[in-house]
Parts: sequence; structure tokens; C-alpha cells
Amino acid sequence: MNKTFDYLVVGCGYAGSVIAERIASQLDKRVLIVDKRNHIAGNAYDYYNENGVLVHKYGPHIFHTNAKHVWDYLSQFTDWRPYFHRVLAMIDGQKVPIPFNFNSMEMCFSKKLAEKLDQKLLDKFGFNKKVTIFELLKSEDPDLKFLADYIYKNVFLNYNLKQWGLKPEELDKSVASRVPIYTSRDDRYFTDVYQGIPLQGYTNMFQNMLNHKNIHVLLNTDYRDIVDTIPFDKMIYTGPIDLFFDSAFGNLPYRSLRFEQHTFEQDYFQEVAQVNYPNNYEYTRITEFKHLSGQDVPRTTVAYEYPQSYEYGINDPYYPVPKKENTELFQKYANEAEKLKSVTFVGRLADYKYYNMDQICARALMVFEKEVANEKE
Ligand code: FAD
Ligand code: UDP
Repeated sequence: MNKTFDYLVVGCGYAGSVIAERIASQLDKRVLIVDKRNHIAGNAYDYYNENGVLVHKYGPHIFHTNAKHVWDYLSQFTDWRPYFHRVLAMIDGQKVPIPFNFNSMEMCFSKKLAEKLDQKLLDKFGFNKKVTIFELLKSEDPDLKFLADYIYKNVFLNYNLKQWGLKPEELDKSVASRVPIYTSRDDRYFTDVYQGIPLQGYTNMFQNMLNHKNIHVLLNTDYRDIVDTIPFDKMIYTGPIDLFFDSAFGNLPYRSLRFEQHTFEQDYFQEVAQVNYPNNYEYTRITEFKHLSGQDVPRTTVAYEYPQSYEYGINDPYYPVPKKENTELFQKYANEAEKLKSVTFVGRLADYKYYNMDQICARALMVFEKEVANEKE
């Protein structure tokens, strides 16, 4: 390749692709975007497997946001299949709705007890509210305390031990608070204004985003292998921040997963797209992709998720591990990053933040406006 580029963007996930698209379309500058994987779309990558089923390679990805500007931005590159995510969790041999709500209560307790608990929740928190497990655990009322302990033990404790190797309270509270208790019968996993799945899949949406004359995509390439040979002016880096600095202050911890896919010659495998297994088995959840895509094929593929510790070079760093000492270590890297004027850091692993897709998209759009489009020539 003998071209020169204005920008080298490292990583073809949301962070890299959104910024590359903006640079190409709004600044009319030339971008080389590289990924060490053999595909675009980062962890949102989906593809048709050998059985013709559209699957998400890195676990279930459901798009949801309250940010209209993010929804409008992505809608330039895809139409959407309207979809509300519903999740069941296997508790005491029954599949009950998660987030835990009044319907879950009716399944787990006698009618009389469920009604009493509903009323107490309504009196204390009001109707249609979201209550975190940590708030509920603070209850002094013995019935609400009983409920809190039940949900903590059956929904959160063992799931967390599997997913993170830690108890819920050993992590930043924002993690378990992602799945609050609802004081209603709303059994949607997300309640955002905009929700859906890209009609032709995520990868197709990314293809449309990157399909621009100013963007050159290079896959199967670690940026380190080309950084000294291909000329460019500025870099956008979306990979793990500690690796950029050769882990100079020590490794930032990440959590990984192993996905196991199975295909069955039957229409459907389970009632909803996602069933969680907080207490039984080594996996945390089973995802059935046809529920997400609405695809009409006479077989179905599911993925089992087995949490794992992350090992450099062995598996992928999927989750930052949000807790105080890790944030402090991250800050050391962020201080170094701040000094590098020709490199911009943005991404779930570059920012070491547990971003959803809409959050990283919003962040990439903001970084583009504030730091990339604004900078002096
Ligand atoms: P990534 O998608 O990780 O992209 C970074 C890219 O950089 C990767 O492709 C990587 O290969 C590449 N890279 C790293 N280092 C280098 C290097 N040295 N050289 C070249 N390339 C490099 N969000 C939701 O909103 N809804 C969901 O339902 C949802 N489900 C999820 C389920 C799972 C199991 C996981 C792990 C995440 C889920 N997310 C979900 C979060 C979503 O995946 C992230 O918010 C999003 O993918 C982050 O985008 P990113 O660009 O920051 O990172
Ligand atoms: N969680 C749990 N039990 C569940 C579902 C979630 O304990 O049945 C907790 C757990 O700490 C998990 C967090 O809530 O890591 C966030 O769950 P979410 O479904 O948002 O996880 P993700 O899809 O990001 O893996």
C-alpha cells in the first residue's frame, strides 16, 4: 500500500467505525481503519453460520437508547426490526421474568405473599419504578428485607460469582444496578424509547457506515505491524488502553467469555431470546438468535455463555471490571494518554468503561465533534 492517510483508526467496532465515518464524510479526510480480527463491527459482529442462521459471534446484542441523536445517526445506515428484549431466569426450576417484577413475584411466592409484597413495594417506591438490589437490601421492613434477600440470593449472587468471580457488592454498584427490580408488570429488559435490531444485521450496518471513498479498511492487521510503515498524521485508538502503553503500570483486569454454539433441527429452542441461569450450570445464559432476527428458517442456533478470566493472547477482553482500584489504575494510563496530542483514545476498552452500544456511539460522536473536528490543522 503506497497511500498516505490523514488518520489511522485502530479498531473497526462502534468507536472506530463511527469516528472513521465522521472523518470521511464531514471532514473529507482520508482514513485507514484496521482491525486485528478478520471482520468489521467489533463485538457487535453478526454473520450467517453454516446452518444459515444469523448469529452474533460475541453474545446477544440488543440495541436500545434514549438518545435520539444516536438513533438518528445509526438510522442513516440501517432500517430497524422493532424488538423488545425479554429475559427469563431459571429460579427454583421455573423460568421467571427478569428484571424481577410483579409477574416474577407471583411465580415465586404464594398469591397472598406476592400481593403483600407488591403493595409494600408500591407504598415504599411507587408504581412503575426501578429499584436497585442495593436499595432494596437496605429495607428495614421485614417483608421487603425477605424479598431483597431472596432476589439477591437467587438472581444476583451466583450469577455474579460466575460472571465476574466476585460478589455483587465487590464490584462497582452500577454493574448489578443495570438490572433493577421493577415495581410493575413490565417485563421488558430495557425500557428505552428507541429499541431494535438492525434489519439486515449489525455487520451490514457497519458495512454501510464504512462504505465511503475516503475509508480504507484493513483486516487481520494489528496496528503495531503497520504503524511505522504506513504514513498518517493522527491516530484514533479504540483497543485496550493498557496494551497501548505496553502495560507499563501493570495489566488492567478484564473479564472474558467462551461462547458455545449449538444448532437444533427444530423451529425454536426456548420461549424468548435469552434465558439466564444464575444458579445452575457453569454457563450464565443461553441466547437463541432467531428471536432477535425474526428469521424464518427450519432450524435454530443457540449460544451458551461461559464466563472466563481474561488471559492476554488466549482469549478476548470483553468487559472492563468496574471497581475502585481498577479505575485508579486506568487513570494512570489516561494521564499518559492525555499527553499524547496526536492520538485520541475512545472505546469501551480504551476508556475502560462498561459502555452499551449507544453509549459508545454517543461518545464517539462527541469525541469527533469536540476533539477531532475542532482541532487546529
Ligand atoms: P469493540 O467492539 O471491542 O471494538 C474494538 C476493536 O478494536 C475490536 O474489533 C478489536 O479487535 C480491535 N483492536 C483492539 N486492539 C487492536 C490492535 N492492536 N490492532 C487492531 N485492532 C485492534 N451493548 C448493547 O448496547 N446491547 C447489548 O445487548 C450488548 N450486549 C453485549 C454482550 C456481550 C457479551 C458483550 C461483550 C458486549 C455487549 N454489549 C452490548 C456492548 C457492546 O459490545 C460494546 O458497547 C461495543 O461493542 C463497544 O464498541 P468499541 O468499538 O468500543 O469496542
Ligand atoms: N445480573 C445478575 N443476574 C442476572 C442478570 C444480571 O446478577 O440474571 C447482574 C450481573 O452482575 C451482570 C449485570 O447484572 O453482570 C449486568 O447484566 P447485563 O444483562 O446488563 O449484562 P451484559 O449483557 O452486559 O453481559
